[in-house]
Amino acid sequence: MDRFLAHLPIGAEPVPFDGSGIPGWEIFPFEGDLRIKTLEPPVLPEPPRDGEEGPDTCRTCADPERGAIWSDERWVLRHAGGPTAVPAVLLLWPRAHHDFADLPPDLAAELVPLQQRVEKAIHALGGIARVHITKVGDGASHMHWWFVARPEGLMQLRGSCLVLWDDILPRQPEDTWRAVLHAVAETMAAGGGTAHA
Ligand SMILES: [Zn+2]
Repeated sequence: MDRFLAHLPIGAEPVPFDGSGIPGWEIFPFEGDLRIKTLEPPVLPEPPRDGEEGPDTCRTCADPERGAIWSDERWVLRHAGGPTAVPAVLLLWPRAHHDFADLPPDLAAELVPLQQRVEKAIHALGGIARVHITKVGDGASHMHWWFVARPEGLMQLRGSCLVLWDDILPRQPEDTWRAVLHAVAETMAAGGGTAHA
């Protein structure tokens, strides 16, 4: 058994959790009787992620401006596909097919300033307390950074559960969502590149 798995109850009846950590905090979106799923055995080798075998197999490379709200020659900022419950959920990716670890130095040097621009453009909406910026990459190998905005004052939505709350709360109306995309796109374009929303 792998050294990282030996302590885990794979395939066994899950042990009840004690409510410490996030499930015991006010930021956890659920209450009542919750049951942990049975942990499935590892799948090795793991199935390839989208684009893992190169740009020819990559959905992002096939249509880099899918859902774009802003872009320039090297980067695209897009929406997540439809209205969200939280004010904004956006993704930033390079046009070129790279994962984070193999991002060339010139693109790597542009990344943090661009992340700052996106965060500031979302804050410029007003009423935003925080913008969470994350790279996960379990679905696609073409690097994409998530920007998820928390509305000011909703203290229960702090932290890593924000994305769970976004999935379970009612979505904002389509016209509100489109106005948010437009505002962020215009703010971004004021610093260079082209607005598409
Ligand atoms: Zn790609």
